[in-house]
Amino acid sequence: MQRKENEVLLTADRTLMSDYHHNEFLGFGTCAPPNFIPEWLYSYLFFPQLETKKGLPPTAPYGLRKTEAQLIKEGFRVNTISPKSLKKSLKDAKVLGIHTMDPFGLGPASTTLAALFKKEPYLSKHFHNLLQSPEILRAKQNGLKIIVGGPGAWQFQYREDQQKQMGIDCVVEGEGENVLGKLFRAALEGQELPSHYEVGMVEVPTINEIPDIQGPSINGLQEIGRGCCRGCQFCNVTMRPLRWYPLEKIERELNVNLDSGKCGGACLHSEDVMLYGSKNTIPNDEKLLKLHEMVVKRCDGISWSHCSLAAIAAAPKLFHEVSEIILTKQSWWGAEIGIETGSSAIAKKIMPAKAHPFSADNWHDVVVDGMGLAHDSMLAPACTIIVGLPEETEEDITKTMDLIDDLKDMRSLIVPLFFVPLGHLTSKDWFTRTNLNSRHRELLIKCAEHDFRWTDNLLDLSFQGKWYSPFMKNFYRAFTGIMKRKVQEVK
Ligand code: SF4
Repeated sequence: MQRKENEVLLTADRTLMSDYHHNEFLGFGTCAPPNFIPEWLYSYLFFPQLETKKGLPPTAPYGLRKTEAQLIKEGFRVNTISPKSLKKSLKDAKVLGIHTMDPFGLGPASTTLAALFKKEPYLSKHFHNLLQSPEILRAKQNGLKIIVGGPGAWQFQYREDQQKQMGIDCVVEGEGENVLGKLFRAALEGQELPSHYEVGMVEVPTINEIPDIQGPSINGLQEIGRGCCRGCQFCNVTMRPLRWYPLEKIERELNVNLDSGKCGGACLHSEDVMLYGSKNTIPNDEKLLKLHEMVVKRCDGISWSHCSLAAIAAAPKLFHEVSEIILTKQSWWGAEIGIETGSSAIAKKIMPAKAHPFSADNWHDVVVDGMGLAHDSMLAPACTIIVGLPEETEEDITKTMDLIDDLKDMRSLIVPLFFVPLGHLTSKDWFTRTNLNSRHRELLIKCAEHDFRWTDNLLDLSFQGKWYSPFMKNFYRAFTGIMKRKVQEVK
């Protein structure tokens, strides 16, 4: 049977269909709830809508591009569209795939901000708005099937009733390459879909089974590998095996982005870019250098999604060489780094391999050494600290505060996140506003003070020459001040 062009559509809400003014750092603004800035202005500043051509966005979230590539590979006629053009495109659609990061605001950053501001964050608000749009409600009445996937899919396990109310037929949790075809085919044929499909270990794709993206990704996001070998108990990623893309595959996807003319830079994505091509926690010099030489030669700029302080501290010479390659094109680069705690006792219990190849007993020193090297080489990290880890004592919190004191001269943001029970800790309790004690409050204030200290420097680096730079500085200062007040207000 001849399939119509718009029978299968893919989209995401407007907080995800944005290039954040070509600065991923601004994307964190989607985790905040509506605040003292008028909503229209806040949305424009932090997640402006992408311009579209015939309803198609120039770039799209990388995860959505992977879904698109898999469906194309399996013979579907699929279009990735902007949420702005649903009205026109949905007329012929039978299946709508929606990508989501944090549909109910249960992610660590959103829960923390929502607890302090007592409001729903923008990203969940816009996800709900999308599902409740008149176009989707009308299409549902005409039999549209909705399949939702992406990093936030786990949250539906806690919101089964809302999934039904929102008219979502199926949620896919995990790496979908080997199951998307059968689910979308079943949806097109009007068959009953499983309401929640958790991708099993045997269905996790090998590198050869992961298709190359066919359309450009937002801000040149570019996967270089999947999975992680460190096994932290609070993390979902740890459930997936470690796989690295070969250099040729990375170059092919880079070509898709560069040839589109929509993104000249690349954001390398893996759980630890420093470990590219390695089989354990020791960086592979040759592979890491070759990767960076290839990317820097081809792109206007480069950033990393994540890396570990242990890998930096374990290979200071290699890290310096990589930084020299990167700094031929730019004056700094960013990455997200998990510190999580300053207590070696807690590190030993819940993330014993995070310090590898060093001992978790030395976690404090590994962090200080790695952060010192990052500072000297102009890697400016956004670091996370987990507030309310299971079995954490007041002494553990004090150790985390001591660590933050020792990092005061190192260019970074330190972001406190409330503990969310994921990975092997799903049976533990969520950390909420009511669990905050005076020690936790001191910890939150210490993080805010550290960030306040580095705000101007980081914003100068991030928004050099941008017209909105003074506005962002004032906003961030005001936001940090409000955060401190909110923390003190919590009883
Ligand atoms: S190092 Fe990061 S990605 Fe790896 S298991 Fe730990 S928290 Fe997860």
